[in-house]
Amino acid sequence: MIYPQVCSICGKLNSKSLCNKCKIRLEKEYDFKSDNYSQDIEKNFKEHHYFFRYENLIRNQILSLKFHEKPYIYKTISYFLENKRKNFENLKKYDIIIVVPVSKKRQKERGYNQSELIAKEISKMLSIKIEKNIIKKLKNTPPQSSLNKEQRQENIRGVYRAFNIEKIENKNILIIDDIYTTGNTVNECAKVLVEKGINKQSIGVLTIAKD
Ligand SMILES: [Zn+2]
Repeated sequence: MIYPQVCSICGKLNSKSLCNKCKIRLEKEYDFKSDNYSQDIEKNFKEHHYFFRYENLIRNQILSLKFHEKPYIYKTISYFLENKRKNFENLKKYDIIIVVPVSKKRQKERGYNQSELIAKEISKMLSIKIEKNIIKKLKNTPPQSSLNKEQRQENIRGVYRAFNIEKIENKNILIIDDIYTTGNTVNECAKVLVEKGINKQSIGVLTIAKD
């Protein structure tokens, strides 16, 4: 992939993919938070961490990353997060990262999995290994964003399956996705791990933003 030498938000020439003005704008939106679900019986994971609320500037950036064939935007986001690393160092408690998978068809169409691009950067920042081939998406489904709340849950029911579970036993697992809206996607991913005997209290979720 070729990354343009411009700020990917405003398009001005910039070697770091993020100019000062846009950095300040992102700064205003950045707010690392963790929500605890350890007692929530409907959730198959213990907590959810996120860097932004899904609105304004970051929302536009994620949409571009996801739907407008601008994979290089992940560079801008990760460059920004790199400077915030101290803020979310508690994520180092996780031993491995699992990326929410897309179906083979979607991956082929888009050419990349946007969550994987971000996860690779987080993996470098925190020195946590990405474990591949643990969760697979067996069926292509319509994008969650195109559906209402009830449809979303139905849409992804039973589409994930867990493999190679011995690789993640007794480890703290961080599942990474781009956006958290109803939480159905990550919850379904966590569920296939729990069904294979993984303790939900050892599973966390990280997304760039929460809707
Ligand atoms: Zn800019």
